[in-house]
Amino acid sequence: MRATFLGTAAGDTSRTREHSGLLLEAPDASLLLDCGGNVARHFHAGEYPADVPTAIWLSHMHSDHVGQFSMLIQSLWLRQRRAPLHVFGPAEVLRVMEDWLVRCILFPGLIGFPIEWRPVQPGVPVTQGPFTLTAFATDHLVNLAQQFQKAHPTTCFECYGAAIDVAERRYVYSADLAHPRELAPALTGRPVTGLFCELAHYPEDELFRELAPYDIESIYITHYPDAFAGQEKRLKHAAQEQGFKGAVHLLQDKVAEEI
Ligand SMILES: [Zn+2]
Repeated sequence: MRATFLGTAAGDTSRTREHSGLLLEAPDASLLLDCGGNVARHFHAGEYPADVPTAIWLSHMHSDHVGQFSMLIQSLWLRQRRAPLHVFGPAEVLRVMEDWLVRCILFPGLIGFPIEWRPVQPGVPVTQGPFTLTAFATDHLVNLAQQFQKAHPTTCFECYGAAIDVAERRYVYSADLAHPRELAPALTGRPVTGLFCELAHYPEDELFRELAPYDIESIYITHYPDAFAGQEKRLKHAAQEQGFKGAVHLLQDKVAEEI
């Protein structure tokens, strides 16, 4: 499988990197994990066919994860996509996005391809082509929910990471976390070929200490602040210190890895 890191910046605006977006390409299908960066321009410039991606995973409502979703849909419309697009995520996120597309003048009867809205629930696997996706809930927005949910009951405070099983291998997308222990449901019970993990909400030592007991071949660090840029060597050292035995990669935008 090929993983292309379209955006590796965290929520702070980076000087050089786009917000969240990771494209996974299996032989007959592709899955975009979040859409916070300028994904449409990347696809167009890279001469990807308009039926890429086959599916999109939207983890939560922060703009660095969903802010470019409608722009991508507009681009796919104008590039004359016809293949259905499967969109996965928390039910309320999908409801908001469906409504947002109508408000952005991207009506189902206009865009020329169907969007299949497929709400997911933690622990319940769903299949899309070669991908089996199992959501796990993170606590990323729990503190904000405690403060603001009462006053803003229509806002969605769910955040879902994903275990992604494809061709007998497991990959894990962290989405945003409050603490790395929230990855446990996706890391337990089978080896993980690649963990795509954020590093914006906890210290690196805590991440590697938490991951040390699991069987993880490689961690691909994405969604990190500019302060970590160029610090791959230091992160590898921190991983070693904490007993994490997998390979450590700190990603730049547009880097593609075969994994
Ligand atoms: Zn977030």
